[in-house]
Amino acid sequence: MQSTTEGLVLREVKFRESDRMLTILTPQGIVSAAAKGSLRLKSKLFSACGLFCYSDFTLYQGRNGVYQVDEAQIKKIFFDIRNRVEALALAMYLAEVAITLQPTGAEAEGMLRLLLNSLYLMGKEDTNLYQVCAVAQLKALSLAGFMPDIVMCKQCGKYEGGSFYLDIPTGQLLCSQCAALQNKQPNLDSGGLAAMRHILLAEDKKVFSFSLKEESLKRLCKISRVMLLDVLEKPPKTLEFLDTVLP
Ligand SMILES: [Zn+2]
Repeated sequence: MQSTTEGLVLREVKFRESDRMLTILTPQGIVSAAAKGSLRLKSKLFSACGLFCYSDFTLYQGRNGVYQVDEAQIKKIFFDIRNRVEALALAMYLAEVAITLQPTGAEAEGMLRLLLNSLYLMGKEDTNLYQVCAVAQLKALSLAGFMPDIVMCKQCGKYEGGSFYLDIPTGQLLCSQCAALQNKQPNLDSGGLAAMRHILLAEDKKVFSFSLKEESLKRLCKISRVMLLDVLEKPPKTLEFLDTVLP
């Protein structure tokens, strides 16, 4: 049976002499497909099946259920993320997160859009990678259905001003006064909380358009990391390298 789909290559594993097993994020979900002979320079699959290629794929499902790439046409290649090792490391990490979350249906479509936008921005020299990381982690969480309750302090209803404490396991927000009564240290400054609200509530097109000081971005990146790791069963393997280049 043959089918066509657009998709982003999130992982490639070489096997045999010149074959690759691809993990592709499509708007329907994650698909594994063998791209036979695609590592031969003359293969028409060579470029369109590379890591982080966004391509139109024609897939064939054999009787054993395994997909095979029949044809592939490049829509976009994100070459520029390879100019910065930090950007490439972040791309590998986000790809692994997407594979681990195994999105399907609308969640897969949202994840594909999120990764395409992230990769595009990461290829630009002036993009702050902590910002991309924070947005991608928080959006990935909300797409997967994990939404912290960030509207106001759970105890007293305080909405803004000063720092806040976000309790990761429960996703509940406390103002600094209510947090102190429970012996909790604030982990979110007011800028970070405003940015988190923007990321989780803004429409997709505007999700990256906010500005925040580098220090606050780093903190936001860290707290959204902790939230994500709480949801994933084990930390992604690519996180170790990311931590060394983008601490
Ligand atoms: Zn309070």
